[in-house]
Amino acid sequence: MDITADRVVTIHYTLKDDSGAVLDSSSGGEPLAYIQGHGNLVAGLEKALEGKPDGTTLAVVVPAAEGYGVRDEGLIQRVPKRSLQGAGDIKKGMQFQARTEDGMRVFTVAAVVGDMVTLDGNHPLADQTLHFDVEVVGVREATREELEHGHVHGAGGHHH
Ligand SMILES: [Zn+2]
Repeated sequence: MDITADRVVTIHYTLKDDSGAVLDSSSGGEPLAYIQGHGNLVAGLEKALEGKPDGTTLAVVVPAAEGYGVRDEGLIQRVPKRSLQGAGDIKKGMQFQARTEDGMRVFTVAAVVGDMVTLDGNHPLADQTLHFDVEVVGVREATREELEHGHVHGAGGHHH
């Protein structure tokens, strides 16, 4: 079966940066299951997998624009500590989810100076060229329930 929209695809993957350092990998763990065509993977990887048959192995180089985005200075903002109520002791590297015009976004605390906190809404992998090694280990039709939920049930997916 080939990978097309609304099919459940199960992959093993390793993600490396330009220097060859491993950033993320499913190797040694459960493979990742996702629904093709729903923006569950970075755009460049989903595009490269479209039409590929079960069992394919491929290496994909994804430019930042089709990966985790190009760094946007407009996503960096300084806010008073008190506006981050309930976050406890705020330290560099902590992450918060916040609603923005473009939907939910993760902000990372880039700096804490006095009562001011600098939040960076860029993805930690923004500006990075992504090097994926992928092995397609399963392709099947999604169930109607999975399509309604927008995620995979069972192995490699949600259990609820
Ligand atoms: Zn569900």
